[in-house]
Amino acid sequence: MPSFWELKLDLYEYQGRELFERHGLPVLSGGVATTPEEARAIAERLGGRVVVKAQVKVGGRGKAGGVKLAENAEEAVAHATNILGMDIKGHTVHKVMLTVTADIAEEYYFSYLLDRANRTFLCIASVAGGMEIEQVAEEAPDKVAKIAIDANEGVDDAKAREIVAAAGFPADVADQVAAIAVKLWQAFIAEDATLVEVNPLARTPEGRVLCLDAKVTLDANADFRHPDHEALVDQAAVDPLEQRAKEKDLNYVKLDGEVGIIGNGAGLVMSTLDVVAYAGEEFGGVKPANFLDIGGGASAAVMANGLEIVLSDPAVRSVFVNVFGGITACDEVANGIVQALSLLEQRGEQVSKPLVVRLDGNNAEVGRAILDSAANPLVQRVDTMDGAAKRAAELAAVGV
Ligand code: GDP
Ligand code: MN
Repeated sequence: MPSFWELKLDLYEYQGRELFERHGLPVLSGGVATTPEEARAIAERLGGRVVVKAQVKVGGRGKAGGVKLAENAEEAVAHATNILGMDIKGHTVHKVMLTVTADIAEEYYFSYLLDRANRTFLCIASVAGGMEIEQVAEEAPDKVAKIAIDANEGVDDAKAREIVAAAGFPADVADQVAAIAVKLWQAFIAEDATLVEVNPLARTPEGRVLCLDAKVTLDANADFRHPDHEALVDQAAVDPLEQRAKEKDLNYVKLDGEVGIIGNGAGLVMSTLDVVAYAGEEFGGVKPANFLDIGGGASAAVMANGLEIVLSDPAVRSVFVNVFGGITACDEVANGIVQALSLLEQRGEQVSKPLVVRLDGNNAEVGRAILDSAANPLVQRVDTMDGAAKRAAELAAVGV
């Protein structure tokens, strides 16, 4: 299942690095480039000896050849040229980050995350960090410390010392790691993150501890508290339909199937996705095309906006409108659907895809009668959720 209910924003490493820097964490100077020329300018500014790193929202860049060390600006440009455009696990590299190179004596691992299953926050720390951390976690789990963090207590110096001891950080870096643990927690809370991961947290031969990678996930449910987070969204990667839906204040997520979905209430829409995916198996694997919750007060205008977005998705072959009448009763929703269709016609939208409508709950009978008397040839009424899902899947399968 797609995790659209977990509204989140994954940051690129360069954004995470900047966020760390703002919160006083030890990172190396750097810059981000979209062309080899820009990479050259940054490499020269940084003194030539730099790391060139692919900026993609996926781990394992090092192993995939997306992280390269350069001795001078010339080499940096060559690496940038190779890495830009590279495909890393299906992600095309459009940007590279360049930072001053650190010499590394040891690589540690440090993260905070929201542990949903245990309803707490969790710190995961290990002195066996670096690119093999997954393997370490698998084969030698005792080398990876997991410490629950109480949301109200947070991480103060005492808690930080507990983490340092549990993970077995060497005594000579204990103070630095403890200070980083506290600052990283403050960043995690201040930014409403659900994950901050530093791998490697590196120790240089001189004994300095530095954050050499930054993986950050922000909780987009908290966006209202962070107007500055909007700027972190990669507009080029945003689905155009999702963009238009957002402008209309619709709670829409594009999926990759053929049955457009409109429902009232997130829970109902979620189960509609399941039911349609299940029904679709019988018709060659037809699937839901989107998530769209038009909310409780489904007015004609909101219904029209929702229909317009869903119908404008070229992948959509049929639409399932699944409504359970509550405070907004079914007759209002039925009127909304009828008005929405004529509203779309007035706007010059050619509606030619079939709609399967299921109305249940408050005033369902009246609502159904309204649909019937409107007698729009595109609208089919099916009164059970399973039956309607099946019909919508079947209609979507026609000609697939
Ligand atoms: P990931 O593989 O996507 O997690 O990318 P990382 O940013 O973690 O880089 C992968 C590896 O490159 C790290 O584990 C380090 O071994 C190495 N690396 C990254 N930055 C530096 C650096 O400044 N100096 C050195 N010597 N190695 C680095
Ligand atoms: Mn890493």
